[in-house]
Amino acid sequence: MSGYVGSQIHGCEYKLHLDYMRGRIVNDGIIDGLQEHSRQLGVNEEGLGLELGWNPVLVNRGEEGIYFFNSKMNNWIGHADFGKPFIQEASLVIVKRNVPILGLPDLIINLDSRPTYIVELKTTSNPANLRTIRGREALQCESYFHMMNYLGFKPRGAAIIKVVRGSKFRIIDNIDLIIKHLENGEGSVQLMRYVTIHRIRVREFNDFLRDVDYALEYWLGLRNPKASPNRGLCSFCEHRRYCPYSVAR
Ligand code: SF4
Repeated sequence: MSGYVGSQIHGCEYKLHLDYMRGRIVNDGIIDGLQEHSRQLGVNEEGLGLELGWNPVLVNRGEEGIYFFNSKMNNWIGHADFGKPFIQEASLVIVKRNVPILGLPDLIINLDSRPTYIVELKTTSNPANLRTIRGREALQCESYFHMMNYLGFKPRGAAIIKVVRGSKFRIIDNIDLIIKHLENGEGSVQLMRYVTIHRIRVREFNDFLRDVDYALEYWLGLRNPKASPNRGLCSFCEHRRYCPYSVAR
């Protein structure tokens, strides 16, 4: 998944490694986030079948991974109808070192029957989180921009919308408002109460590819995962009790 690259570069790669080896805990926040995604985008996320507790499916492995990849290909962007105002959860692929990397942007907004803006949704329960974009979130959103270019589409921009879960706002009912802000090229703007939009600064393609290359070295078994322990990351990490690098047991 292209989103993993951001976590590997800007988060703790060792956490991703433990997710992959042991599975992840699905907590209320993850379930609430999925439900808010469904509401915001008008899509059904029940197919993910997540249940509270330990869940091995969030990092897809082996046959699960192939099944996941193939099921997402039903939404392949090559089959999308750009005559519609927007497309939810289209799948994108870039191939690097013979590894197919899957990207699933939440929303693509079409203008004049062309895919024009990429919008990634992040939900939170804490209004203080609306103001900032994390490095991994920006890289994830940037990856969709580059993947679209790689596939021959020429998107104009990419943005992250942050929403406090349960707010009255709904993305797909406010497409015109979102386009207006993106066309103005503004950086970070409060769209309404409990909703912000952050336009992402997209780097050169080669800078992005350098990050992808580094991330792939782990997945190809060419290097060990890098741990980046710090109190902020470790205290929210479900692996903190047994992780050898944890600073928050
Ligand atoms: S406990 Fe800390 S160092 Fe260990 S995986 Fe989690 S975030 Fe990384």
